[in-house]
Amino acid sequence: MTKLNLTEQEILNYIDEANKLLEKAYVPYSKFPVAALLIDDNGNVHKGVNVENASYGLTICAERNVIPTAITQGMKKIKFLVVTGGTPEPISPCGACRQVISEFSDDETIIILANKDRKYNIWSINDLLPYSFGPKHL
Ligand SMILES: [Zn+2]
Repeated sequence: MTKLNLTEQEILNYIDEANKLLEKAYVPYSKFPVAALLIDDNGNVHKGVNVENASYGLTICAERNVIPTAITQGMKKIKFLVVTGGTPEPISPCGACRQVISEFSDDETIIILANKDRKYNIWSINDLLPYSFGPKHL
């Protein structure tokens, strides 16, 4: 079970910070910005947004943008991840992102899905991707 060591105010502060990133998303085609804010196991903060391409299939989600950045800077595990978007309800990561998040998550990883109105819910990776394929299956 995921143990949350954050106060409501800390959660909202992270969501606000993630929501500020939405304007950086490169979404000329869908107009559907998504932002991700990641705190790694070293306590470092990483940021990512979705980046579209005229060749639509090359579009990369915010989650799969922030994770390689964090890895490049030394992350081993995701401690805390906020994903937010302009959706009426808290955003829901796509299946590909759930798999990539899973690779760098454990039972302690906290995933907060939010929207620009600060609505949010809290998940573990096992909630989002139960019985997932991962390194333990190799
Ligand atoms: Zn995705």
